[in-house]
Amino acid sequence: MYWERVSEEIFLFTSDRYALVNSIAVLTDRGTVVIDALPFPDEARQIARFLEIRSGMDFYALLLTHHHMDHVYGLYAFPEQLDVISSELCRQRLLEIGETSLAEAQESDPTFDEVTLRIPSITFEDGDFFVGAGNKTFKLFPMPGHTNDNIGVFIEEDEVLITGDAVMAIPIVADGDLDGQIETLEFVKVMEPDTVVQGHGEVILRGEVKVVMDQYIHYLECVRREAAAVLKKGRDRKELWEVPLEKCGLERVPLGIASHQLHVANLMSVFDKLKAERDAG
Ligand SMILES: [Zn+2]
Repeated sequence: MYWERVSEEIFLFTSDRYALVNSIAVLTDRGTVVIDALPFPDEARQIARFLEIRSGMDFYALLLTHHHMDHVYGLYAFPEQLDVISSELCRQRLLEIGETSLAEAQESDPTFDEVTLRIPSITFEDGDFFVGAGNKTFKLFPMPGHTNDNIGVFIEEDEVLITGDAVMAIPIVADGDLDGQIETLEFVKVMEPDTVVQGHGEVILRGEVKVVMDQYIHYLECVRREAAAVLKKGRDRKELWEVPLEKCGLERVPLGIASHQLHVANLMSVFDKLKAERDAG
């Protein structure tokens, strides 16, 4: 795990053991607000201890961008009485699958034994939801595509947008919706935040936001094109393994060895949807 500062009061923690997933802490004069946590217990505990020492203050709240376990598990390392704030869809997904997924993780890796699942206690459905914490205002709003429960967190005073996996070094839509994901990336371009902290991968700085969003949109359009081409030729979906990530304008580096698998999962899910649409109509 390594950390860096995004601004004077915003800290970023990145797991070097799981797909460069990010956790963010914002120091406010009401206490520290944490957005997402890393999956591994030792990393999460390290962050909690670092923040206690560094800020010398209590925690104020935990915000959760979506229900995926690599963002959820580490929340247990923060004080139990804290509210966890998310979308209502996120809370529902965790109630549906959270305990089962955690039990499976614990079964395959005992390091997760100390994790207890934190279910969101404050949720919102649509539109903007504001969390005020003294000198900082957090605007929460839906950013669907990667999953339908994903939200963004905009820190108004700093113009920093924390996206969860609505933005990530390789956009992943295998568990979501490609068109919704493109719309969300277009929305980020219009919003023009100063800085974007994505769910996985490095911070996108001022001046880079539009270029990077275009690169991700281009990637997703390419995924749709490649999947459609294999379908149209009547070929087997296994051929999608042959489409390199680089062909769609992204590099393998950011998320490590899993990137080709993630990319193929995108292609296959889009292929299956296009095929279902074709067969239906
Ligand atoms: Zn995710």
